[in-house]
Amino acid sequence: NKKKGINFIESIIEKDLAKGKNDGKIQTRFPPEPNGYLHIGHAKAICIDFGVVQKYGGVCNLRFDDTNPTKEDMEYVNSIMEDVRWLGFNWGNIYYASDYFQKLWDFAVQLIKAGKAYIDEQSSEEIALQKGTPTRIGTNSPYRNRPSEENLDLFNKMNKGEIPEGAMVLRAKIDMSNPNMHFRDPIIYRIVNHPHQRTGKTWKVYPMYDFAHGQSDYFEGVTHSICTLEFVTHRPLYDWFIDQLKEFYPKDVNYRPFQYEFNRLNLTYTIMSKRKLLQLVKEGFVKGWDDPRMPTLAGLRRRGYTPESIRNFVEKIGFTKFEALIDIALLEHSVREDLNAKAKRVSVIIEPIKLILINYPKKKIEMLEAANNPENDLAGTHQIAFSRELYIEREDFMENAPKNFFRMTPGGEIRLKNAYIVKCIGVKKNKIGTIEEIYAEYDPQTKSGLPASNRKVKSTLHWVSAEHSLPAEIRLYDRLFVVENPSEEKDFHKLINPYSLIVKTGARVEQELENAHPLENFQFQRLGYFNVDLDSKKGKLIFNRTVSLKDSKGK
Ligand code: ATP
Ligand code: MG
Ligand code: MG
Repeated sequence: NKKKGINFIESIIEKDLAKGKNDGKIQTRFPPEPNGYLHIGHAKAICIDFGVVQKYGGVCNLRFDDTNPTKEDMEYVNSIMEDVRWLGFNWGNIYYASDYFQKLWDFAVQLIKAGKAYIDEQSSEEIALQKGTPTRIGTNSPYRNRPSEENLDLFNKMNKGEIPEGAMVLRAKIDMSNPNMHFRDPIIYRIVNHPHQRTGKTWKVYPMYDFAHGQSDYFEGVTHSICTLEFVTHRPLYDWFIDQLKEFYPKDVNYRPFQYEFNRLNLTYTIMSKRKLLQLVKEGFVKGWDDPRMPTLAGLRRRGYTPESIRNFVEKIGFTKFEALIDIALLEHSVREDLNAKAKRVSVIIEPIKLILINYPKKKIEMLEAANNPENDLAGTHQIAFSRELYIEREDFMENAPKNFFRMTPGGEIRLKNAYIVKCIGVKKNKIGTIEEIYAEYDPQTKSGLPASNRKVKSTLHWVSAEHSLPAEIRLYDRLFVVENPSEEKDFHKLINPYSLIVKTGARVEQELENAHPLENFQFQRLGYFNVDLDSKKGKLIFNRTVSLKDSKGK
């Protein structure tokens, strides 16, 4: 029953629809904790959570899992909304787990009254020790049989701020010998003495993930609660709480949410933990959450990644039940593929050296035709100014060139893209021998389009007119880490690539880029895909390298 072209989650949904489960309704949610910016891993979750309702009908809501006030912030809430929209998805409603604090409290009180929860006064170390191991059963807490009245009284005291943080927790009373460790009287509430970004100082106790997530799903009417594989072992507890909830908060008898898990995205040469990403920001290794080296959606956007390239990447890697480490080259390939089809081709010289065509008239300017995208005739052309003094890339010239060097060298001919064939006749050097200018003769018969332009020359170089080009800063980005799997190492600091950013301040760009707007994508001929940085403006142009033209693994 493996239908071609659909993943296992879609196949589950198709079966559920066929069976009329949950009355044929599909409701999903994307549930980020607002404790950081979304990253490329979240994009994978977003694509499946929103993707299935786009495909099969239904609604996907955005739910902020805001149960941990010390780490959360409204800045993150706002960035999450921006990034989900940017990726191309629309949610039905916005919910906050904090909207359910009262309901969750009431549910906890019900459990206490039913003898299914108790206040434990032991330290977290003692509780952890008593948990046992999967092969060794746990030990009951000495507080396990505390009378309900006393539990209720203490729970209230915890929430009034009368108990210090860490001194007491509320635990569900389930089964200390269950082979599933999550059943061994899980902690469901703890004291946090920190105002919450939405509920202020109303609450001093906050529900744990397992006591908030499934319940929120149930309150909202979620049918398919899709998450990552690390929650597989939590699923029985998820179901247990739903069973309890169905008693205390009866809804439609046929309704019930189910959890499904897929493999999370791990990418080479980067890290995905929000805690570590925050460290990179706080310790100044990057300039912010949207630094183009970050695997965050804000960083990728600023780097020049398009929403389509990220969605295509997620589609390509697919959804399975096995953890894997994905080669970042695959993500780079996706953006290359997308930009190859879309990006306008322009000429930019990152490290200029002057090329003077000694037989070209001094005041003459020719406006030449340059194709915007050879992959797409409809993209049209733009004009580029040609004159006697040009800039070419310094590395495209070599004075004493070996045989296999086909770019510019004294005595040799090359073609200037969209212009003429030129022959180098000499150079000018300064006192210490650095080449300052290159001299060449152009052949007027070889203008692009003329019959003589077909003469065979080994290479075509890009160029800009000295007088007509504009200054620009170019930021060359590379991978943030030097090892494939930095998450494996204890301390990632020593693994940071010292050359992850190289700034080139003396670049020259063709005039076509004068009014380029932030985030616009281009292909710089022969150099790679670049976009306009958010801080770029007319008169002070800044470009970011999104990705080189080809996979540069061996570099
Ligand atoms: P972190 O551990 O870095 O804080 P998290 O998983 O706790 O990340 P959440 O904000 O809770 O981050 O994640 C929201 C949703 O995104 C969850 O459903 C989670 O499973 C999913 N998600 C997070 N990271 C990845 C990933 N690398 N690949 C796929 N899905 C992910
Ligand atoms: Mg987390
Ligand atoms: Mg989480």
